Amino acid sequence: MRQPIQLFTPNFRVEECLDGIRECLEKGWTGLGYKTNEIEDAWLDYTRLPNAHFLNSNTAGLHLALHMFKTEFDWEDGDEVISTPMTFVSTNHAIIQCNMTPVFADIDDYLCIDPDDLEQKLTPRTRAVFFVGIGGNTGNYLRVAEICRERGIILILDAAHMAGTRLNGRHVGFDADCTIFSFQAVKNMATADSGMICFSDKTRDERARKLTWLGINRDTYSRTLGGGAYKWMYDVEELGFKYHGNSIMAAIALVSLRHLDRDNAYRRQLAKWYEERLLKEDKIQIVPTFSGCESSRHLFQVRLDKRDQVLMALNEYEIYPGVHYRDNTEYAPFVQNANTCPNARQASLEILSLPMHMGVTERDVDYITEKLSEIVRKEI
Ligand SMILES: *Cc1c(COP(=O)(O)O)cnc(C)c1O
Repeated sequence: MRQPIQLFTPNFRVEECLDGIRECLEKGWTGLGYKTNEIEDAWLDYTRLPNAHFLNSNTAGLHLALHMFKTEFDWEDGDEVISTPMTFVSTNHAIIQCNMTPVFADIDDYLCIDPDDLEQKLTPRTRAVFFVGIGGNTGNYLRVAEICRERGIILILDAAHMAGTRLNGRHVGFDADCTIFSFQAVKNMATADSGMICFSDKTRDERARKLTWLGINRDTYSRTLGGGAYKWMYDVEELGFKYHGNSIMAAIALVSLRHLDRDNAYRRQLAKWYEERLLKEDKIQIVPTFSGCESSRHLFQVRLDKRDQVLMALNEYEIYPGVHYRDNTEYAPFVQNANTCPNARQASLEILSLPMHMGVTERDVDYITEKLSEIVRKEI
């Protein structure tokens, strides 16, 4: 009997993770500080980004980033943030949570923001752009970055799918004002829930560290190390949040990071196997990867007609693909933006993400692509 093939199955190195977690427990330190410092250093070393602060999620980071820019620059309620409708809703919730107005730019063939449409959507009230690298693909990020730079618009990169993605040889994030990664359980660098926020600017990084712990200016870990009679003493400089990561998650993240490059290389191999087998199938379009992008390959996406029927038919064979994502303007909080992005609306009906994880073998890819080809030929 064949095992069901899921879209994502995390591949935790259990013994290595338990070793790290045991160190935390034996030390009696599971919270902020200790392993969270180690993962920040390891992430800086790995990405060569200038700053990194470990968070409890990418969602928290998206909100924090926009909140910080808004208060730093005194943006007004109702000022606009341009984003993509083709994302997990975390990206766009942040805009509404900051009392700003979401404006959606349409997507291109990479399923990322189309720079031409972005230019159309700019207004005098545009303050920031959220760019999402879908599936690890950078899309036309470089042109979007150029547009933002020319006009003094803040660029925030939602790199939830991009741990390990390189663009022209450099890890992504080097030229955004802020880049936020996700290490959630089904992401390509998995923990349970955590993330990393990377500001280009040191002062913002320092402010972020306070804001992720309620605005408190000195963390408990360094106070413990510091000693003295004033261990209990701290100040609250401004209203903050409880958004920092903890040492248990950091211990798991350190293990995932050690394996990240090898895992991503295997994902790219899977993508190649899929591509080789699907290239000849004219009813299936493969979503292209931007040239110069070495994608983390969090996703392998294709487009086809009658997607929902195809997906159901694959489920009959215990193959469980996914959809990333539904056009966000179809959700209640964004109804006022409905029908502003026809390409995203169309893509939303056609896209299918095929199983992509360390447990998928070349034979699985054979099986999945055979069944997929059979179904599209029969169905359409
Ligand atoms: C998963 C995801 C998020 C949220 O990440 P969490 O770490 O789960 O909060 C945000 N944006 C995109 C594009 C995602 O896929």
